[in-house]
Formats: sequence, C-alpha cells, structure tokens
Amino acid sequence: MSYDKNNIFAKILRGEIPCKTVYENEYVLSFYDINPQKKIHVLVVPKGEYIDLDDFVSKASEKEIIEFHKAIIHIVKMLKISNQEAGYRVLSNIGKDGGQEVPHLHYHIFGGEKIGKMVV
Ligand code: AMP
Repeated sequence: MSYDKNNIFAKILRGEIPCKTVYENEYVLSFYDINPQKKIHVLVVPKGEYIDLDDFVSKASEKEIIEFHKAIIHIVKMLKISNQEAGYRVLSNIGKDGGQEVPHLHYHIFGGEKIGKMVV
C-alpha cells in the first residue's frame, strides 16, 4: 500500500484544511481530535509521509522516531496530564483490524478523566 497524499491529515499538514493546533515543531503536528472521545483527545502526527507505525519504523530516520515520541511527552506536559500529574493513554490504530480510519500515522492522546477499560 502506498501513501495517499489526499488523506485528511496530509491536507491538514499542507494547511489545506484547518485544525486546532496544540503543538507544532519541525517533526510533528498535534491538534485536537474533531470528534473527542474523552475530555482531552489530541492527535499527534509526524510531518513525514508515513501510513502507520510499521511504515514509520521501517522508513523514518532515528531522529524522526525519537522526536515524534519526545513530542508526545512534551504535549502531555503542556496539557498537564503527564505521569507526574493525572496520567493519560496513548493509542495508535493500525490497519483494518486496528480500526485505522486515516492512513497517516497518528497517536491519540486521551486524558482529562479516567480513561476506563483498555479495550472496549
Ligand atoms: P483512527 O480511527 O485511529 O484513524 O482515527 C482518526 C481520528 O481522526 C478520529 O478520531 C477522527 O475523529 C479524527 N479526525 C478525522 N478528521 C479530523 C479532522 N479534520 N480534524 C481532527 N480530527 C479528525
């Protein structure tokens, strides 16, 4: 499967459709999910064109992989839900059985309330 340049997150990254930005740097963009499932529901996407975690780890540079994960920690601190505060959940849906809807790698960050069961 090749990367679909017309997926919705690619359009957000190109500035073609708006988003509510939480954080941005050279490597990542983070924005609020349009259909929040918890009080805090934020998405983090790498700026590079990666379909999912498998694609990212096999094609991205070590710098991109490290910066992506460091950004998540930066964002949870910004949102005051880090491990030192309330805590949070990070989740990435991958492929068909994983329920991935948008074919650009993204991590969901949930927080702001008890997240509940690990898998519903
Ligand atoms: P997934 O099922 O893991 O691929 O999640 C895709 C997520 O993207 C869902 O939680 C959607 O609510 C969210 N989403 C879709 N379109 C947008 C958008 N334009 N802005 C923000 N979030 C979006």
